[in-house]
Amino acid sequence: DSFEALPLAAPLQRVLLELEYHTPSPIQAQAIPLLLQGRDLLGCAQTGTGKTASFALPILNALHEKPTRLKPKCPRALVLTPTRELAGQVGKSFATYGKYVKFRQTLVYGGVGQVPQVNALRSGVDVLVATPGRLLDLVDQRHLDLSQVEFFVLDEVDRMLDMGFLRDVKRVVSLISPRRQSLFFSATLAPNIVQLAETILHNPASVTI
Ligand code: AMP
Repeated sequence: DSFEALPLAAPLQRVLLELEYHTPSPIQAQAIPLLLQGRDLLGCAQTGTGKTASFALPILNALHEKPTRLKPKCPRALVLTPTRELAGQVGKSFATYGKYVKFRQTLVYGGVGQVPQVNALRSGVDVLVATPGRLLDLVDQRHLDLSQVEFFVLDEVDRMLDMGFLRDVKRVVSLISPRRQSLFFSATLAPNIVQLAETILHNPASVTI
């Protein structure tokens, strides 16, 4: 098993060589081919398993293969995370893996001023990494339009629910086109989490590690 065997575009193969990632981790080996085919995914995985690359690489591959003109306020990929710390880590991973891909990303989370986030969204981003509360504040103020999202990632959903974000998550889902490709990651798959996943995912592939 090697990354070269996966149909990832040259700018991604190049960065993987530089990072000296030789072998896909188990979740990457299972998830990346399915995601490149456009499947929805239900992933049961903790951090430290390589789950971030398992979704960042296929999304970056799609952005590279099908670049579009940036539309103000309309991200193409949305990654929802429970905390600003996790949002920061995911953003760093996109920057690392997307070093040779022409794309733009921004982070939005609460507890800091809104103006730089609004300005970034207005100038156009491909990838938006966000926590639920600030995301919805920006939607409600019409600084953000989720109708064009093509890739929707919910990361660490079990933590999001523990933090009381169920209503917010459901509202975000209602704002996104049902034609999007959705990826749902959780460290546990309790019945309430599976139930939520079923309202979001279409014929998902399941990956457990
Ligand atoms: P994550 O679970 O996404 O937070 O990743 C855990 C750590 O593993 C990160 O520091 C990654 O840089 C690293 N990593 C991810 N995939 C691979 C891989 N295929 N080979 C070596 N290291 C990896």
